[in-house]
Amino acid sequence: MRITDLKAVYPNYKNVPSSWRTHLWQIVVRVESEDGVVGHGYGGGGKAAVEVVNGHMRDLLVGRTVESVEDIFAAWDELYYESIPYGRKGVGVMALSGIDLALWDLLAKSRDVPVYEVIGLRTKDRIDSYATGIDAEWYAELGFRANKFPHRYTGRPEEYDSAERAAERARRIMGPDARIMIDTYMTWDSEFTVEMGRRLAPYDIFWFEDVLTPDDLQGQAELRPLVKPTLIAGGEHEFTHIGFGEAARAGAMDLWQPDITWCGGITAGLRILDIAREHGIPVAPHRGGEVWGLHLIASSDCMDLAEVLPGQRGAPRDELWIGEPFPEDGFISPTDSPGFGVTLNEAML
Ligand SMILES: [Mg+2]
Repeated sequence: MRITDLKAVYPNYKNVPSSWRTHLWQIVVRVESEDGVVGHGYGGGGKAAVEVVNGHMRDLLVGRTVESVEDIFAAWDELYYESIPYGRKGVGVMALSGIDLALWDLLAKSRDVPVYEVIGLRTKDRIDSYATGIDAEWYAELGFRANKFPHRYTGRPEEYDSAERAAERARRIMGPDARIMIDTYMTWDSEFTVEMGRRLAPYDIFWFEDVLTPDDLQGQAELRPLVKPTLIAGGEHEFTHIGFGEAARAGAMDLWQPDITWCGGITAGLRILDIAREHGIPVAPHRGGEVWGLHLIASSDCMDLAEVLPGQRGAPRDELWIGEPFPEDGFISPTDSPGFGVTLNEAML
């Protein structure tokens, strides 16, 4: 299949995530082939990434032929190489992620199979999931057996207590066997993290996510033994197998969470998994309950754990992708439809 067109669009979102974060800045990428097959991908980086796709990467991709996974790998390598001066991490790779996912969707649709089948042998039937957010009562009602809640440390002393209260509450509502995790979104420093390891021990926290900053690999590595058995998790702000290779060498994290729509797509995800396997590091993709990560989890040695963001009870949501699976009894599965199995809601463009 020869690629005849490629275009990125920033959707017209109405309902941005209502939690502690204001926006995920996701973009849509559409790729078209000469035989009329269309692939869709989802990337990060907002309007800046739209400019990267339409203003630069498009010219490199149109005219290329994609018949195999190897062809996608080759396209990825060229786009990465050509964008090195402004890319490597951040917006450049977030743009590349959307293109990569559109190519996987295109290839799978041209074969009339789901993406997980193009990736390889399916390793998981239904996938265990966890709910991210603060509405633990609702998540428990929905059947989730795991919850990750956000906590921010801004330097105020009462935040030691607020973290403990939130952990106690999540444990009480989700039950003694549930997995409870905390997303610190780069606000916990070393001292706070060590103290939380001590104070939250009774609540058996599975992981502390995104402590320090992704640039402080050494600092994270030093925290790992100090908060055991709680894991130091992170990686949603790391990019490509090259970035994760650095994290592996530093021994920075116990568990990796690449975001498949930011880190370089399925192609980078597979390469990151190769490194993780070598180092014995479990991988649980950020937002892995969205189809882009879910198909990878289904057919790889990713952990049997997908992140779902249900929001809060009754809160309105944008339906950009029609047909996205939602967990039942806490388990989620990709559908058998071709590609990623979702349809773009064109009304949002
Ligand atoms: Mg996070």
